[in-house]
This record gives sequence, C-alpha cells and structure tokens, in this order.
Amino acid sequence: MTHRNPAITGLLAAGLIVPLLCLVASGVDAADWRDRDLDTAAELRDRALRGTRAFEHASSLVTQVGPRLAGSLGDRAAVAWALTYLRSLGFEQVEAQQVTVPRWERGEAIVEITAPWPQPLIGVAIGGSVGTDQRGIEAPVLRVQSLDELEALPRDRVAGNIVFIDERMAPSRDASTYGVAVRKRTQGPSIAASLGAVALVIRSVGTSEDRIAHTGALVYRIDAPRIPAVAISNPDADLLARQFADGQPVGLRLALTARELPPTVSANVIAELPGIERPDEIVLLGAHLDSWDLAQGAEDDAAGVAIVVEAARLISELPQRPARTIQVVLYANEEFGLSGANEYARAIEGSGRQVIVGLEADLGSGAPWAFHGSVADEARPALTIMHGVLEPIGIELLDTPAYGGADLQPLKRTGTPVLQIRHDATKYFDVHHTVNDTLDRVDPAGLDRHVAAYAAVAYLAAVKRGDFGRLPPPAPAVTAR
Ligand SMILES: [Zn+2]
Repeated sequence: MTHRNPAITGLLAAGLIVPLLCLVASGVDAADWRDRDLDTAAELRDRALRGTRAFEHASSLVTQVGPRLAGSLGDRAAVAWALTYLRSLGFEQVEAQQVTVPRWERGEAIVEITAPWPQPLIGVAIGGSVGTDQRGIEAPVLRVQSLDELEALPRDRVAGNIVFIDERMAPSRDASTYGVAVRKRTQGPSIAASLGAVALVIRSVGTSEDRIAHTGALVYRIDAPRIPAVAISNPDADLLARQFADGQPVGLRLALTARELPPTVSANVIAELPGIERPDEIVLLGAHLDSWDLAQGAEDDAAGVAIVVEAARLISELPQRPARTIQVVLYANEEFGLSGANEYARAIEGSGRQVIVGLEADLGSGAPWAFHGSVADEARPALTIMHGVLEPIGIELLDTPAYGGADLQPLKRTGTPVLQIRHDATKYFDVHHTVNDTLDRVDPAGLDRHVAAYAAVAYLAAVKRGDFGRLPPPAPAVTAR
C-alpha cells in the first residue's frame, strides 16, 4: 500500500471537486445533449412524419430484384442494386464487404396424405432440409402438440414415424409468440431424428389462415441424422389433424428435391455518413438485404432496408453532420445463418473502429410502439432522454433489456450495446417467409413513423457526448430469424 500525505490527498480531492461543481453549475456541459441536439432530433422526427421516400426504396428493391435467397442470382442482383441505389441517394462511402454464404435450393415438395383418406397437402421444404429420393418417404404419422411433448416421448414411440408437430402460433404485437413457436422449426428436425423419426412435418410457424406455408431455416445438429423437414399451411395442418379423429392410422408421403450446393460469395453493403469529430465511432443502422426465395421479401426485409436507408438519408440532409459516423449495414444472408452479421463483427474487431451502439429494423412496417435498449447501467438514464423525442408519437419506453435483432447478436456478444424500436408484429407473421410477402403488405405510413423514430434515435446516439458503455458477457444467445 502506498503512503499518502493526508494534506496532498485533501488537495487532490479539492482539485477534483471544484471542476465537478462548475459542471453542475453550468448545467449543460455535463449533459449528454445540448438543447439544440434534442431540437434537431425532434425536427428529424417531424420531417419524417410529413412523408418520406421509404416506401419508394422498398418498392425499388422489391420490383427491381425480388426474391434474393443467399447465394442465388437474386442475391447477386440485390448487392448490385444496393451499391447503385445507395450511391444514387448521395451516400459518399458505399462499399461491398465480401461474405461467404451457404447455398441451398428448395426444389419441389410433394406432401400427400396416403391414409386413411388420401389427398395432397400444401407444404414447403424448411430451409436447409435435405431432399428425398424420387420415390420419397412414406410412413405412419405420429402427431404431437408441441416440441416439448415430442422430447418427452420414448424412442420406441417415435422411431420409424413421420413426426407431425401440430402447434399453432398465435399473433402477438411484440412477436413473443414467434420466439416460442420457431423452436419447432429450427430444432425440431434434429430432435425428431434423434428419436428415430424418418421425417418431420410442422404446422407452419406463422399466422396466415390462407393455404400457404411459411418457410424459414432449420439447424441440423451434428449428432443426429439429417431428416427431411417440411412446413404445411395452417388449413392443411387442420386437415391432417382431422384425419386422426376416428383413431385410424394416418400415413404421409413426402418427396423433396431440395439440395445443398457449395458455398458461394455474397456481400454486406455498407454506406456511411462519416462523423465530423469521431469518425471511428459508429452508430450502426442495420437491416438484411437477403430474403427467402418464396416471395419478394417486402416486409422481410425490404421494409427494414427502406427504414434504415431513409433514416440515414434524412440525417445526411442536415446542415451539419453528427460527431460520430452513421453507418447503414445491409447484411448478407440473415435468413440462412447470419453470415453477413458474423463477417461484419469479425471485420470490425481490430479495425481501430468501434460500433458504439446498433439498431436493426427487421420486423416489417407495423407501426412503432415502444423503445428500449440494452446498454451499460450508467447509460440507462440517457434512454429516458432519448425517449422524450419519441413519446409525442405514441412510442412507450420499456424498462426491459432489448434483444436488438438477429443481425446485431454477434456484435452484442462482444459487448456492443443495442437500442431497439419495437414494430407492431400483429400482422407481420401472416406474410413472413411466404409467397404473400409482397409490396401491397407494406404500410407506407408505418414506414414513415419508423423513419421518424430511427432517424431521431440514431441522430441522438451520433451526437451524444458520452457513449453507451459496453455490455457484460451475455448468457448464451437465442437466435430468432
Ligand atoms: Zn428478416
């Protein structure tokens, strides 16, 4: 222990105390924002509410590119579109960051009831599923209500069957029902296979009552056989369930031409508004450029692309740029493995730059209803101040931690704080990952309200005097795609 002269210690203490008192007395220097910063954020918000170009951006991507599954020709076209389009909007620094992506082709899916009353069903392969041979797989069906019920069954009850998980997803504004339901799609195939099932059929993870099926990715475990997996539409799941009513054995035949192809190259497209004081500190606005192959990817995620691009574009029109860099990141391959998000997080590490906070838009155009964040404890009071700009447009402040979005998870795991604008997801899962994810489902007014919120929040983050701290190492993350 070092001996200290009490008199010197006292002087040091006094030396520290005096400037602190000055800061408190002057009122503004110690604060994160000057009044005019808050005024500018409110102006951005009001400007967006008068109408933005967000819908035009979404329309351009959906019309000129359309489906853009990772590694497909559409994906390549999307990267080219983004580079050209962002430059045309006046972003000075627009770059492609190369990303290796897995590749999978859906092919055709035949799903038919063979007993007791044969008829065809509408189904789609779950993303990543293996195919079958030409004859397909024909087997008795074991119906369970949930993945939990399946996991509790002994192997001899499951082995040799096609498992049908007949769990219905309810709509929810906060998308919480999706987080629960999606586990049967991502983990169901390997859980069923580990119990000896020969294939898996799920009631779609989605809320559409139309005769369309919702795709999405599965994750095969390395310690289980890879079995084919399909999702059937809600009305078809109802039909299949009714066939069990009088206790006769139910049979299904599945034939899938889905296949995996060698990995290929795609790219994150990154556009910047360089900060005028702290250019190496980044406020990240993210959305994903890829989509599933079944539709145009309008709500998922042209809407998100449009929101973050337009928010940054509005900030670029201010007379003065913010202190920090605002970076728009349009991620490659969110849907089929977060390839772009992982590559971004790898590349930023050791680059001398740091993302001080991230926001992601990936839940469609349903109106914004809440704001929250996962930030260091000492930065939490700042969220209340930021929320002051959002409150007049009906956005509430949640005191719960924020997930942030799938593409932010690799950064979050390394301590990057996240802010989150919550989108109303009540109708989102009617079209999510389906053929009905088309531009007519995108709400232009909802997009404008989001631009208002994202622009205001991103601007405040980019001019904030202090940062948002860093997050402690997290518990294992749950990925919801
Ligand atoms: Zn998405």
